[in-house]
Parts: sequence; structure tokens; C-alpha cells
Amino acid sequence: MLLTITTTYQPATDLGHLLHKNPARFQSFDLNFGRAHVFYPEASPEKCTAVLLLDIDPVALVRGKSGSESERANRPLQPYVNDRPYVASSFLSVALAQVYSSALSGKSKSYPELVETKLPLSAHLGAVPARGGETILRRLFEPLGYTVTVEPAPLDVKFPEWGQSAYYSLTLEGTFRLKDLLSHLYVLVPVLDEEKHYWFGDDEVDKLLRHGEGWLAAHPEKNLIARRYLKRPRLTRDALDRLVEVEDTGLTEPETGDPIGLSEPKTGSGEEALEEKVSLNEQRLAAVVTVLKQNAVKQVLDLGCGEGKLLKTLLADSSFTRLTGMDVSYRVLEKAKVRLHLDSLPSFQQSRLTLLQGSLTYRDKRLAGYEAATVIEVIEHLDLARLASFERILFEFARPGIVVVTTPNVEYNVLFEGLPAGKLRHPDHRFEWSRARFQEWAGDVAARFGYRVEFLPVGPVDPNYGPPTQMAVFKR
Ligand code: SAH
Repeated sequence: MLLTITTTYQPATDLGHLLHKNPARFQSFDLNFGRAHVFYPEASPEKCTAVLLLDIDPVALVRGKSGSESERANRPLQPYVNDRPYVASSFLSVALAQVYSSALSGKSKSYPELVETKLPLSAHLGAVPARGGETILRRLFEPLGYTVTVEPAPLDVKFPEWGQSAYYSLTLEGTFRLKDLLSHLYVLVPVLDEEKHYWFGDDEVDKLLRHGEGWLAAHPEKNLIARRYLKRPRLTRDALDRLVEVEDTGLTEPETGDPIGLSEPKTGSGEEALEEKVSLNEQRLAAVVTVLKQNAVKQVLDLGCGEGKLLKTLLADSSFTRLTGMDVSYRVLEKAKVRLHLDSLPSFQQSRLTLLQGSLTYRDKRLAGYEAATVIEVIEHLDLARLASFERILFEFARPGIVVVTTPNVEYNVLFEGLPAGKLRHPDHRFEWSRARFQEWAGDVAARFGYRVEFLPVGPVDPNYGPPTQMAVFKR
């Protein structure tokens, strides 16, 4: 099974940087169902093609897997003689997530702009087992903006009179960020295929939403995609519930935009060092805790909880009886688990605390029913185009009694030594707002969703530039 990706972006060999695979090398990777190889049949400044070759071992697939007695009796050779090694299937998605993981999640330390650049791309899959044929291929890929070329494969080239097979060759062309192309393939290839090679739990919904971030909610076939990707009605309902359609906000996604959920936060970098002098972090936590205590809050939902600094402080105070942290990143949640000693806490402490993986840009039933939500230094990590979605999810659907939001005050940046003029405090920040802009946003949100809002400074207040952090407290 081959996935071929070609670009004519100049210099085309930049494709190697994006894929984190050197065009001059043939590389192989062990996967639990076989091996994957990456190589470049052409790599010139004008045109570069990367091939992902999946060498699926059908015998390895059978090992450790039984199937039911009757299945085995009816199709004794099926485990050994099947189409899996030759067609695009959910194995391809797993291979993309493992072999092209940085490219899929849009990560590149050395080439961050390239990740965000739309490139002329062409992707080719030789044999796609498309349930629903050419029509479904077009219905899935054309709304995303691809030029789709489909050719049915004959059942046997030597005997054309036998007619067509259920397989198609598929070429997708268009101008996309590479990570978008990979996310589309990650989700849609298993949708086309009847089988899914692994059995899965609720986190499959999260995977679908994570890789569908920024395009799935608006896809005209989102119901079909969720149904076929998840294969189980309960999971499908869950996913559809969480895919909120967001009305057009009139805001365009900034050029440097990144679908939230794919980027991992970069903690421990410049921003923390910059703010260290004023130990702003601690002042921020103290300010948030003060608001929560003044309002006699007992249950807190910490959205974008990161490594759990706030949760740790709240956990130490027994007046907080129910604490939930949510973050989009598995990696930081793993760190939070360690920081909070979640696994070794006595059971009554454990029962006070829950960590959830989820994105603030998807509707999520798990967020309902809390007295208060905190969103500490998170909104500036959301694309402006996703902010409207976040507003509805928090203020319309989750609807806690109190919402505390903090975000940097950009006016204060001039006072940070070592921060070049015009630079934001952190490479992952999509924006930083002035006091006026933040107050305008918060005032508008409060008015639209029936909250009152007041503003509090956090950190030393400069007479000209205000405080380093600004905080809004919404109440209904
Ligand atoms: N509140 C924490 C972490 C702030 S860093 C603190 O004050 O220490 C921003 C956090 O927001 C990161 O952990 C990042 O993973 C998370 N985040 C970014 N986009 C998100 C989204 N769409 N949904 C949920 N969390 C998100």
C-alpha cells in the first residue's frame, strides 16, 4: 500500500522538513502490524515526492487474534488471504500518526511558518476500498476543496469482461497546509473502508474530534463521517453532540492560525522565564483562588488546566469538593497526573479530582453542571476563528455560575526586558489583547449570554500600561 505526496512548492524539498524525513534517506519503521518505509522517488527544488509504503504482514495480524468460532469456520483463509496489505485502510491512519506524527500535528521547531503555509499538494492512493464508490469519494473530499480524480480498478486487468472491482485509485489535488491534508486522510480513509482493524473505546471520539478540528464541524457529510468512522451508534451520537456548528463570525483565521487541538503547549519556555521576575504565575493563582473563595465556590472546572498548577492549589483546600481539569493535550495531562500524584492519592482525594481530555472548541456534555469555571491563560492559545465556538460552548452550553478568565495584557509587554517590540510572550499565542480589547470582548460575551462581568488587575499595575495579566470575572 502506497501513499504518495507530491509538492511543487519551491523549494519543493522543504517537504522533507515538514515530514521530518530526509529526502536523501530511505527510512523504515516497525509498526505492530508490519513495517512502514518512507522514501523519495524524486526530490528536486521544483518537485518533490514522498512515498509512505506500508508493508502489512497479514500473518502478524492474525497472531493473538481469534474471532468467533463461526467466523473462522466460514472463512478459514480470510485472516491470511485478504486485501489488507494492498489497500488504504485504518492501518494507514495508524501509520500516519506514528510515522508522520509531527507533520500530522503541525509541529516543527525549525520551520514553524512552513507548517502554516498552504502548499500545492497532490496525494495519491492506488487502491481505496470505497464503499459507495466514486460518489462517496467526491462527497467526502470535494467539500474540503480538493480536485478529485477517481479511477475504478478492474477486477482483473487480464479479464476486463469481469467488470469493475470495489477499489478505486484516488488522487487529491489542492493548496493546503500539509497537516490539513494528513488530517483529512487520517479521518476519511477509515470512513471509506468497511473494516476497522482495531476495537476501540471512548477515546476514539476524541481522536476523531481532534483530527477533525477546524473542518469536520462544517463538513456537509459530518454525520456520515462520524457514523462510519466510529462504527458504533453510541459513540457517533457522542461525537455529533460535541460537533457544534458555529455561525460565521466574520473573523478570518489568521495566516499563522493553527487548528487548536493539534498544537501541544510549549510550557517551560520563554513566557515563564519572562514573567518569573514578578512571580506572576503565583499572583495569578492567588487572585483566582481569592475570587473562588469570595464566592464560596465548591466545584471548579479548570479549562485548559495544563499541568494542573491551579488544581494542585485547590486540591490542598478542603472547601473545594469537586475539581475537574480539562486540557486538549494528552501530554500535559500526563504531566498533571504526575504533579498531582493522582495515582497515589488516597481514594477520598482521588474522588474529588477528575482529569478530562477535550477541546474547548467542541461542545462537551461533561462540562455542564459546575458552579465555576476557570480559563487561566488559555484564550490566547485559541485561533480567533475558533473563539466564537469557545464562547458558545462555555457560556451557552456549559453555563457555570461564575467564569474566571485571565489573559496577558499586551500593553504591558514593553516593560518586559528581553521581549523584542511587537513580539508576543509565547510562540503559541495567537493574539494578546490590550485592556480595551479584552474588556470589549468580555463585555460583549457577557451581554450576549446573560452574564455580568467585572475586571481585576493581576500583578503590579503600571500607571501607563496597566497590569501584566488581566482578569475578567463573569457571573450570572
Ligand atoms: N491554565 C494553565 C495552562 C495555561 S497554558 C496554567 O495557567 O498554568 C494553555 C493551556 O491551554 C495548555 O495546556 C493547552 O494545552 C491548553 N489548550 C489550548 N487549546 C485548547 C483547547 N482548544 N481546548 C482545551 N485546552 C486547550
